[in-house]
Amino acid sequence: MMMSTNWRFPRAARPLVFTALLVPGSVLGSSQLQAQAQESCPRPGTLIQDLVGPFAHVRYLADDALEGRETGTRGERCAGEYIAGVFQDLGLTGAGPDGSFFHSFQVQMGSVLGEGNNLTVEGEVLALNSAWVPFGFSTAAAVDGSLVYGGPGVSRPGSEDDVYAHLDLNGKVVVVEGADPHGAMNTMAGDPHFKASVAAGRGAAAILVLLSEGEDLPDPTAEQRPAVRIPAIAIFGAAADKVREAAKGEETVSLTAAVEPRMVEARNVAALIPGEHPTLAREVVIVGAHYDHLGFGGDGSLDPDAAEVHNGADDNASGTAALMEVARLLQQPGNRPARSVLFLAFTGEEKGLWGSAHYVNEPLLPLENTVAMLNMDMVGRLRENTLTVYGTGTAEEWPDLLADLNENQQDPFVLASIPDGFGPSDHSSFYGASIPVLMLFTNTHSDYHRPDDDFELINREGMERVSAYAAEIIGAVAGSGETEALAMTLVEGAGSPHGGGMPTDSAAPSSPGPGYGAYMGTIPDMTPQETGVRITGVREESPAEKGGLKGGDVIVEFGGREITDLYAYTYALRDHKPGDEVVVVVLRDGERISLSVVLGSR
Ligand SMILES: [Zn+2]
Repeated sequence: MMMSTNWRFPRAARPLVFTALLVPGSVLGSSQLQAQAQESCPRPGTLIQDLVGPFAHVRYLADDALEGRETGTRGERCAGEYIAGVFQDLGLTGAGPDGSFFHSFQVQMGSVLGEGNNLTVEGEVLALNSAWVPFGFSTAAAVDGSLVYGGPGVSRPGSEDDVYAHLDLNGKVVVVEGADPHGAMNTMAGDPHFKASVAAGRGAAAILVLLSEGEDLPDPTAEQRPAVRIPAIAIFGAAADKVREAAKGEETVSLTAAVEPRMVEARNVAALIPGEHPTLAREVVIVGAHYDHLGFGGDGSLDPDAAEVHNGADDNASGTAALMEVARLLQQPGNRPARSVLFLAFTGEEKGLWGSAHYVNEPLLPLENTVAMLNMDMVGRLRENTLTVYGTGTAEEWPDLLADLNENQQDPFVLASIPDGFGPSDHSSFYGASIPVLMLFTNTHSDYHRPDDDFELINREGMERVSAYAAEIIGAVAGSGETEALAMTLVEGAGSPHGGGMPTDSAAPSSPGPGYGAYMGTIPDMTPQETGVRITGVREESPAEKGGLKGGDVIVEFGGREITDLYAYTYALRDHKPGDEVVVVVLRDGERISLSVVLGSR
């Protein structure tokens, strides 16, 4: 499940052998790549041993050896090989353009420095990599012109230090301080990508960002954010003072930024069970789950300083395992579907739904023949028998179908339904293409987007039950066995596209306007509440824990502001600074309790 990225410099992605091999025009054909992958990938048997069922798949995908399966890395490639192998063994056919099990596309994973990088200030040539380096989001271009000093490089209308608002940047090379003027961490006011976009928007020819002592040097190869329209350069060490003075003196500068996008191959895995019905077989039901995760952390990690394997057992090895289990169940005699069923294991979900967006843009089967899409994301930590279902409002038939099938379960779930067709995962891409969708989810937990999301914590029995329930939903829509294929009636407008991204309690900058990075440490419960935000727990040593909040509390007021839902909570938090003391009112066992919390910083 995706989370809005925060504005930290991205940690160095781990360019691995494979990356080089994937550059377009490389000499190795796909079979050789496959052979190499198989060679360097852990053999399933060694990890799975005698495990069976969906948990066996989790055991393989979430092993350290898969290195957190970040898109474009060896770990992701091995995971893709494994999933394709399982589908092949189950007798599904490859649905890829060439009959293979892969639906490939190119993604930019950072940039590499080209030839000819140069920076000369007041006639002095500054040394690349020891005094400066282009950001990975820089445009490749040469500029000659004069410098202008822009101070913090952000304008805060009405605040005393708003020199920037009145500066003419047109055609100039603007020099700005990298850090947040208030010393806050992870804010937009401390983000060079944001400052470069603003400078470009104000007609600057280029931007030089002065990094303060101890600030991370940018790693172009790890840059994931889109390129800005001007050269953007980081200056550090003693050179920063020199350039600051030169800018205040409006001295001359000549620069060449040579950066090239680093393209790598990313792959969705695609497998088909052809429908048996003479006409309905032309129609298709899609089942999906993303198999990529966060690799060694960095962007998206809730433990950004831990450069460790983020195993992603629940997120989303569990959904991928359930996907393969649904295929196995539908391949059982008597279960063959009338409509065709397409199984898609997406990559790039954590990067921003890249794989599902690619599918919708370049579908393998006509979208107009696609009657519904079922997504599974984080189905491995069933608690209190509660299963959350997103998208129940996207087709008229969903509520009754889900209730009927649930009733027939040996141990019916407590279903928590969210009508919204848009949400923090791949089903959003399909609802955006006017296809009825569902997403199954067993809720967040304290290991979400951390290295500790490990296979030992998976609720095996819960995952098997969710897989069986999913197979029945697909069976009902595709018409398998005796069941008639269900006519689906799309309902538009169930939720807004802007609902994407999982709101977090760290003032995610996904919400417009600068945040201050204030932090609480609560774990929000994503199931709908009448009002307020229910929390499933608090993080150890966090401001929320110190303030006395507990799992089960429902936050109804924050700093004097009424809290109706997660977004109200995120926005309220965003307007507070680390160190602020706020009164938080919670409902606990029906009683309103006021607690005082001193906010931390992420
Ligand atoms: Zn995720």
